Amino acid sequence: MFWQEELETISREELGVLQSDLLKATVARGSISPHYKKVFEASGIDPAGFRGLSDLQKLPFTVKQDLRDSFPFGFLAVDPSEVVRVHTSSGTTGSITSVLYSQKDVDQWASLMARCMVMTGMARHDVFQNLSGYGLFTGGLGFHYGAEILGAMVIPSGTGNSQRQVELMRSFFTTVIHLIPSYAFRLFEVMEEMGVDPRKDLKLRVAYLGAEPHSEETRAKVEDLFGVAGYNSYGLSEMNGPGVAFECVHQNGLHIWEDAYLLEVLDPETQEPVPEGEVGEMVLTTLKREAMPLIRYRTGDLCSILPAGCPCGRTHRRISRIAGRTDDMLIIKGVNIYPLDIEKVIMSIPEVGGNYVIELFNQKGADNIRVKVELNPGAFREDMRHLEALRQKIAKELRDSVLITPKVELVQPGKLPRSPGKAVRVVDLRGQ
Ligand code: ADP
Ligand code: ZN
Repeated sequence: MFWQEELETISREELGVLQSDLLKATVARGSISPHYKKVFEASGIDPAGFRGLSDLQKLPFTVKQDLRDSFPFGFLAVDPSEVVRVHTSSGTTGSITSVLYSQKDVDQWASLMARCMVMTGMARHDVFQNLSGYGLFTGGLGFHYGAEILGAMVIPSGTGNSQRQVELMRSFFTTVIHLIPSYAFRLFEVMEEMGVDPRKDLKLRVAYLGAEPHSEETRAKVEDLFGVAGYNSYGLSEMNGPGVAFECVHQNGLHIWEDAYLLEVLDPETQEPVPEGEVGEMVLTTLKREAMPLIRYRTGDLCSILPAGCPCGRTHRRISRIAGRTDDMLIIKGVNIYPLDIEKVIMSIPEVGGNYVIELFNQKGADNIRVKVELNPGAFREDMRHLEALRQKIAKELRDSVLITPKVELVQPGKLPRSPGKAVRVVDLRGQ
């Protein structure tokens, strides 16, 4: 099933032509905004003479700091009266930035979202519960509009109040949910407390997992706990929000909608394209956005491009799961480690629950890490020998995989602090 079959299955040749035309239009439109007007003048780019894809590399990059400096209207390329919606990035990494949408942008975004959902088999008869923050965060309204134009029954339950979430699922026979993976584990705990077995007592069949980095092992755990198929959903507020790249039923990487987002995967140091299959920084250009075109935006997210073709018939390329961010690499005892490398190990251990935190601390002048891991209620016993054996097992598996031996601390179920939004996985205690 497709939402926009022609566009989703467009030939690569036609897509290239379309992208080139759209890129030209994006550059022309961008030059209206105060930011790009200035930047194009400074770098000698004449929008009238811009030739499309073949000139892509001449365009300057856009970085998060540009968005901060131009807050709130510096990227606006339409009259302010054309703006119908404002979102902001959650500001997890610094000061707030704005994203502005025209009516066409909102409609366009909704149809990209509908494509994503249809791609996983969601349809009108589904009941969709959106356990995502509404308001300035894009995950709420982004999914909401997509599910609505698709014709599903939409429950905008938002975040929090887990007990009510479960009651809604039971009353309305919810079949599809959207939530951040770290919250999925909390939700499961509440279900257990309520005596609800999601596999037996609920009708859930699909979970969209996104908005934060997570490993294949985390997906597997969520699928197993809830008895659902879990699909990875990737997006960022700068590119509208969710609906940039999404998995199809084959769960073999995320199709990126290349008629809306021009994809480059570049070496973060040299800014040269990396070969297919190699990890680099994802750099995206909006191709259809009216109010706020963004050109060669450096997302900071690391991924690789997967080999072309997918049994689902979509021609849009697939990217790997996000491997980390350019700014979240830890260097411990000379070894480069991404938090996700640690998560992979932790989540593959059955005794471990869903919550963990990596603490960075200073020991005799050298950086070290401590991994605090919550056990799942079934595995937690007040038996020192049992706990110590488990602790050693986790430490050994971490050492085998990330090549250093972090300190491991086991924590009782439910005892690690939880953040209301995206999980905070790394806590830096080095200054203390
Ligand atoms: P903020 O940067 O303020 O948190 P966003 O809510 O737009 O703003 O977050 C977007 C970021 O979230 C992405 O750049 C990426 O790092 C992360 N992210 C979103 N979806 C995923 C996903 N499926 N896998 C990994 N990381 C993701
Ligand atoms: Zn596919």
